[in-house]
Amino acid sequence: MSAWAFATLTGCAPTAPNDVVEIEPVSTPKELEIPQAPESVREDETDTPMEFRPRIIEELIRESPNHNDWSDLWGRIETVNKMASLGPGLPLDAELSPTVQSDIANEVISAYSNAMGLWTFFGVEEVNVVWTLMSEKDYDWWVERVRTIEGDRPALDVWVEGPNLLGHCYLNAYSFCGYGNTQSVPGLLFQYNVIGSKARLGPMGRSNTVLHESVHYYQAALSDDLRSVTPCWFEEGQAQLIGNAASGYQDTYGAKNELNRFGRTLPGESTWTVSEWEKLFESYVADEKVRGECVQSGVGYSTGAAAFEYLYMNYSMWQIHELTLRAIETGSWEAAVAEILGITSEELNSRLSGYMVELLAEK
Ligand SMILES: [Zn+2]
Repeated sequence: MSAWAFATLTGCAPTAPNDVVEIEPVSTPKELEIPQAPESVREDETDTPMEFRPRIIEELIRESPNHNDWSDLWGRIETVNKMASLGPGLPLDAELSPTVQSDIANEVISAYSNAMGLWTFFGVEEVNVVWTLMSEKDYDWWVERVRTIEGDRPALDVWVEGPNLLGHCYLNAYSFCGYGNTQSVPGLLFQYNVIGSKARLGPMGRSNTVLHESVHYYQAALSDDLRSVTPCWFEEGQAQLIGNAASGYQDTYGAKNELNRFGRTLPGESTWTVSEWEKLFESYVADEKVRGECVQSGVGYSTGAAAFEYLYMNYSMWQIHELTLRAIETGSWEAAVAEILGITSEELNSRLSGYMVELLAEK
């Protein structure tokens, strides 16, 4: 069985997910701009362009948060990512197909390298990713490549030749989409991106897709089986929140319905009580089947992003990193929550539920 870890499907309209490929958010490349620094950073950086300042990055990551509203948190994530992306980043390498536009492919690689800069502050030194960049014309080349690199279980059903369908993305000359697969070879992430032969991508430094996928690279660097020790909203929720926040989406969402910031509809109603939410959170266990449903319905993204908003408003990014490491080490989410956050996982679910009620009440 092939189970797709995640997929970027950008530049094509997402269709209903099936059980093998996830849809990722569509990225809207925007002009590069210097994001506004939060107050504490702004004070000693008045009117100077943002620079790579490792000490400030460390502080922002470890700072005990005191966020009263989500946009402050989002601004902070945007700032810390922007600052970290100005540093050396993390070298990444990809295999380029014969027909891919090599100049754009190289821009994509360097955008990912820069985006990984943030995660070097969490100890990521390398990502076990085998990365392929190709065009919509490369079906035969892709088949050969997958056969060569994916060992005994090459996943060849992702790209359907006739309709030129990659996951949920109908490929054409303007596509920018792809997928990731962690299931063929333990410990390795295979990532494939299609850059259409006529695609012209804008500045990618704040591409939601790049930032979202970089979170998955970070997660993959920690463990190839994070999903078996975290609730079903964890992986996509983290990627969704950081991708949306770091790409400056609050500018877009601030003016409209604020709950749109989570990218998809939250599952509950504003009439739901905390205990109704608690039941839902209790059901979001680390289980392959549950996770599949959680991700397919989009709940893994929206509820996950909202849950991460709560986590990052109440704990530092570093603490959440430690929570992740501890869950991997102990194999137990409950033990990790108790140890690192000092509360039971039921209590965490209860607090997350309270936050969801608050969010929907504000709607
Ligand atoms: Zn994702």
